[in-house]
Amino acid sequence: MAERDPVQQPTDHLKRFVLMVILALAWVSSGLAWMLMESLGKSSPVLRGVFGLNAVFHPIVFVTVWRRLLPPRIVDMACLLFAAGLCAACMGLRLYSPTYGASIDLQPLYLWIPVIYVFVFTLAGHKSSLNISLAILALFVSISLPYLVYHLDEPYGNFTIQLHGVSAVLIAALHFFSSYQHRFQVAQLTADELARLANTDELTQLANRRRMTETIEFELARFARYGHTFSLILIDIDHFKTVNDRFGHGTGDKTLVAMATRALALLRHVDTLGRWGGDEFVVILPETRFEESLHKAASLCTHVAATPLVGHHPLTVSCGLTSVCTGDTADSLLQRADVALYAAKDRGRNRAEGVLAGQVEPSSAPVVGSSDPLALQYP
Ligand code: GH3
Ligand code: MG
Repeated sequence: MAERDPVQQPTDHLKRFVLMVILALAWVSSGLAWMLMESLGKSSPVLRGVFGLNAVFHPIVFVTVWRRLLPPRIVDMACLLFAAGLCAACMGLRLYSPTYGASIDLQPLYLWIPVIYVFVFTLAGHKSSLNISLAILALFVSISLPYLVYHLDEPYGNFTIQLHGVSAVLIAALHFFSSYQHRFQVAQLTADELARLANTDELTQLANRRRMTETIEFELARFARYGHTFSLILIDIDHFKTVNDRFGHGTGDKTLVAMATRALALLRHVDTLGRWGGDEFVVILPETRFEESLHKAASLCTHVAATPLVGHHPLTVSCGLTSVCTGDTADSLLQRADVALYAAKDRGRNRAEGVLAGQVEPSSAPVVGSSDPLALQYP
């Protein structure tokens, strides 16, 4: 089944929408706060600068997100760096400029700085989040360092030291949780991959014998519980040994892959095709009665014989099938399908034979051009 394009994931649309709403709200609230400050006469050149920057930055990011002008990761990082830059500028002004920094309240500013680290760990990848956080911490430390050298005992010096201490502890804790989460994700991926490998045939990427046995058991349970019928077809390539002997094992492998593709093209979405082993494939056809499955198997034979699977060498397949009946087990079903397959081989190959429970003489469906063309080529 085709995988969904990651770009089209619904969570991406939601994330984009939420980000646009946040940007719009931030722009409106920042504008209202600016107007309020101006009307109360509490504004200052620094506040005007901060509000002015907000007024320009938010619409730019809004349009970038809306029109998808940049990848989401870059937009996230730009927002984080903008916030960190703004805080760093405010810190610098407050600590070193009595004229312009007087209107900046250091306590709320220092409360917001740790939030930046939380966003870094939420938005950036596991490896880069630690580096980005340490770079931001280094920026704040280096801005405040000259001030701390001379004003360590003053309240602002004390606050600033505490800010750096809290930031360092927060970064360490976030990194610890991020590593834990990362290890869990890696373990989950490994478990998923192992489960996939355990159920997949390496060459054809079809369900393997183990998975197909589970599917048969599942259909049997559905039949026993709800009476949903199903049929099972065994497909075996005719004279496949000769393909290997004549054209090599590599061509043999390509033939098996091409056979899987050819069969899949003819099956419904609900049918399951698997590799049973060697040159033998198995198909489970849910909600399919005996006659329908006999015709499906016959058209499979016709479809394979119509054009060569690989190169210019014609190939055919033989099919043996059966349908479920009360009291069936996986073994009894497979045994009947095997008897039918044996009959198809015995009656000249390139044909479909079916056996129902208790039936002695296999039934067959017409296969277009039914014959064993390879009997002449590969005696
Ligand atoms: P028949 O018409 O009676 O089925 O004759 P056949 O030659 O196809 O005989 P059979 O089905 O017993 O042969 C299966 C062959 O498939 C035997 C083995 O060499 C070959 N084979 C099994 N697995 C693979 C594989 O993964 N790759 C290749 N290239 N060949 C394989
Ligand atoms: Mg064979």
